[in-house]
Amino acid sequence: MRQLLLLIFLFFASQWLFRKLRRANARAQAGAQPGSGAGAGTAGGTYRRSGNGAGSSPQLTDPLVRCVECGVHTPSSESLVVAGQRFCCSDHAHRHAARPSGRDAR
Ligand SMILES: [Zn+2]
Repeated sequence: MRQLLLLIFLFFASQWLFRKLRRANARAQAGAQPGSGAGAGTAGGTYRRSGNGAGSSPQLTDPLVRCVECGVHTPSSESLVVAGQRFCCSDHAHRHAARPSGRDAR
């Protein structure tokens, strides 16, 4: 009697497994057509590298830096670094330098 129960259980289990396998196969076929393949390190690595969590747009290569003078966020390639401070333009860098105490004003 116990063996019969085991057989029934096995039957159901194999059927469940078969269904699951078939579903996974169908999903893999649907997903493989766009061209994901098995290699995840080819295209995904370059896209993910620049995203460091803070930026909402992961496609930007250079991180955004905040202008000390006006607070505008600019790409680091376009920003100016004067005396360790970052600015969006040279005008703000000059204005910040001309001010006697920029930190107390804020
Ligand atoms: Zn600025």
